[in-house]
Amino acid sequence: MVLVISILAMVAVPAWQYARQRTQERACEANRTKMNDAKAQWMAATGAVPADEPTMADLVPTYIKEIPRCPRNGTYTIGNGNTRVSCSVHGQ
Ligand SMILES: [Zn+2]
Repeated sequence: MVLVISILAMVAVPAWQYARQRTQERACEANRTKMNDAKAQWMAATGAVPADEPTMADLVPTYIKEIPRCPRNGTYTIGNGNTRVSCSVHGQ
């Protein structure tokens, strides 16, 4: 019985960890998509050129309700109009 439970745990724990990791990646990706959309709206509204870089204060709360938080505490880099928002943990 102990062996069966051990084998089940060996299979279930990595699967659970993987699922949790995927959920966090997707949540972060959704945040980055939201920020990229907000950045595009900010550029259109302000007539910014691609080299211009908005700050979080330019985007929140005008284009996004609140500052997005990465589920794994990554730091977001907004970047200018030529780049996509990136996360220090999850990348672009
Ligand atoms: Zn992230």
